[in-house]
Amino acid sequence: MDYDVVIAGGSVAGLLCAREISGKGYRVLVIEEDSEIGTPEHCGGVVSIPAMDDLGIIPVRATLDNKIRTARIVSPSGKDFTIDARPQQVIVLDRREFDKQIAHQAQVNGAEIRVRSSLREITKEGARTSDGEIKCKIVVDARGVSSLIQKDRTGTLQSAQYEVYGDWIDKEKIEVYLDQEKYPGYFAWVIPTRRDEAKVGVAGRGINPALVIEEFLKQKGKYSTIREIFAPIWIKGPIKEFITGNVVTIGDAAGQAKPTTAGGIYTSGIGGILAGNAISKFLESGNKSELSEYQKEWNHKFGKEFENMLLARSLLERLDNKSIDGIFDSITPKIVDEISKEGSFDFHTTSVAKLLGVKGSVKAIQAILGNELRRLLN
Ligand SMILES: Cc1cc2nc3c(=O)[nH]c(=O)nc-3n(C[C@H](O)[C@H](O)[C@H](O)COP(=O)(O)OP(=O)(O)OC[C@H]3O[C@@H](n4cnc5c(N)ncnc54)[C@H](O)[C@@H]3O)c2cc1C
Repeated sequence: MDYDVVIAGGSVAGLLCAREISGKGYRVLVIEEDSEIGTPEHCGGVVSIPAMDDLGIIPVRATLDNKIRTARIVSPSGKDFTIDARPQQVIVLDRREFDKQIAHQAQVNGAEIRVRSSLREITKEGARTSDGEIKCKIVVDARGVSSLIQKDRTGTLQSAQYEVYGDWIDKEKIEVYLDQEKYPGYFAWVIPTRRDEAKVGVAGRGINPALVIEEFLKQKGKYSTIREIFAPIWIKGPIKEFITGNVVTIGDAAGQAKPTTAGGIYTSGIGGILAGNAISKFLESGNKSELSEYQKEWNHKFGKEFENMLLARSLLERLDNKSIDGIFDSITPKIVDEISKEGSFDFHTTSVAKLLGVKGSVKAIQAILGNELRRLLN
């Protein structure tokens, strides 16, 4: 046996999983197909400090891009409300540095990391890679959305995210723009990283993200683009089986990114940690049932919240621009204040329910569901 565990994918989930298993003294190899850990970065990097604590990471100066004070949400016709993000302790990470920070933690624990090395096939004995056959007891699939797309194409949206300079960027304010015609089923976003610099993105069902992002940026003002990325995001929630034989699937590859925002640093990272703990216990006892604890624990922590996120997504997807504007008309300062003070960045469906629960929006949703029901009966 060459290694106890081979992990395909050297990003947040794979590296946290490696950190946990190597910390228990087992032989772990992480293979990453790109030539550098953390690049190409395809992430907004928005996360909460409590989530970082849970992941066992204290952001250092190099990994912390920015602290967020407010989040402004804008309706299709330009109505808006602003949430105070300070109680939720929202920060923006530099994923290029953050992933390297976790890689260092894993390496210190004894894991080996290889870049420019990719998984080609999972075999009975272990993994066939671009560097040849590697024998191991467990293969961990941490290949992100690319692994999921091979199994199911229906749960992804196309996104574009540009890093831009512009004097209209507010360093402390995240902006989210809802518009079902421009970004069906999703939104456009501005995530400030430093003064006059932001990650600006769009995603939506069936859109051409390159055209849509140019349109969005044009109406924001003068800008320069310093980096462009295009990446699919997964919005369909967790896959059924995280464990199949000797293969353990973690992170975005297991559908562990939030179905509402596709944020997955926290939920996919926890997937990596829980899998790492379960695999270590299996290696210690030889008892396969230890592996299934990983799925049970992830579901226990996030299962209900993800179900609610899927429900919120299915409701929001049915609303047209007029209904969304109607909801904004009904949002009172009291609701915004409650969300600011009591909302959680990581478990946010209570806040979404509060917004959808306002008087006008219940009417709007009922009207749409009612229409659907009538169509169904006809
Ligand atoms: C545009 C965009 C913005 C986002 N913004 C946020 C945000 O603000 N906050 C947030 O929490 N989340 C955000 N996310 C989601 C977040 O980036 C992911 O949830 C998170 O990175 C998942 O980590 P992962 O380790 O599961 O997978 P990934 O980060 O996708 O990593 C998978 C790794 O596997 C490697 N790989 C693929 N195939 C192979 C192979 N065959 N062999 C070896 N290696 C392979 C890849 O190169 C990659 O390094 C965003 C995603 C996108 C696309």
